[in-house]
Amino acid sequence: MEEDTIRRLAGDIFHSKKTIALTGAGISVESGIPDFRSAGGLWSRYDPEEYAHIDGFKRDPEKIWNMLREIITVIEAAAPNPGHKALSQLEEMGYLSSVITQNVDGLHQAAGSKRVIEFHGTNRYLVCLRCNYRGETEAFDTQNEVPVCPNCGAVLKPDVVFFGEPIPLDAMQEAFEEARQADLVLVIGTSAVVFPASSIPSTARDHGAKVVEINLEETPLTGAISDYLIKGAAGEILPEVVARLQDLIGG
Ligand code: NAD
Ligand code: ZN
Repeated sequence: MEEDTIRRLAGDIFHSKKTIALTGAGISVESGIPDFRSAGGLWSRYDPEEYAHIDGFKRDPEKIWNMLREIITVIEAAAPNPGHKALSQLEEMGYLSSVITQNVDGLHQAAGSKRVIEFHGTNRYLVCLRCNYRGETEAFDTQNEVPVCPNCGAVLKPDVVFFGEPIPLDAMQEAFEEARQADLVLVIGTSAVVFPASSIPSTARDHGAKVVEINLEETPLTGAISDYLIKGAAGEILPEVVARLQDLIGG
């Protein structure tokens, strides 16, 4: 059904000098991690406005840890899907400069991607808001206890960007530099509404890049910022794109 656009994208990647990818929760849905929209998911029980806001965490960290514990369980059980793997393959083939991800699940790295810019941080580390301690999540028994800072005793927070917190400066700078230099941006599994990640595609476009979406549905970018949308599941579309690109290279 999307054969023509898949072939078109393979051609665009083949001719591009610098392709980057921007990914969101959608690319990990096929790995079993629900996005905010998935029916019956985590987010229908925990309002992100309350549970994912830094003020909520500061007010009552023990309460927020009830949700964090569930997220960590879901993420630890998840494995990369063919969409993550196709992106790592593209990088390996020399056709993808970097992946800028809004996800905190580490699945791009698990799939073998080397240059991953984690725009919203990661669940693999915990940080102390009081003394800046940072340690690996797996060193703590997060399932049975609320983790506390070994230096000062404050409740630790996953090193992810909560609403109301700034984007890590290095990730911000690197991501926008990539966006300005790219001539092709793949926007995958993100509705691109959360600022400032949402302005990466338009920044790239302002600097002359082509923008292509892979998503189950149209987004605010469709028909406005993106040149075309390939409608479908990332885990099905991306391996097809890689296969068509291999045809081009081979033939
Ligand atoms: P989002 O804005 O990235 O929306 C998800 C998008 O993915 C939607 O547009 C949906 O149509 C699309 N989608 C769903 N399944 C897909 C599939 N199989 N293939 C292609 N597209 C698919 O994400 P959100 O859920 O609104 O989350 C916003 C913020 O929370 C982001 O920072 C997001 O990354 C973060 N978050 C991260 C994770 C994770 O680390 N896996 C999970 C949930 C939320
Ligand atoms: Zn501390």
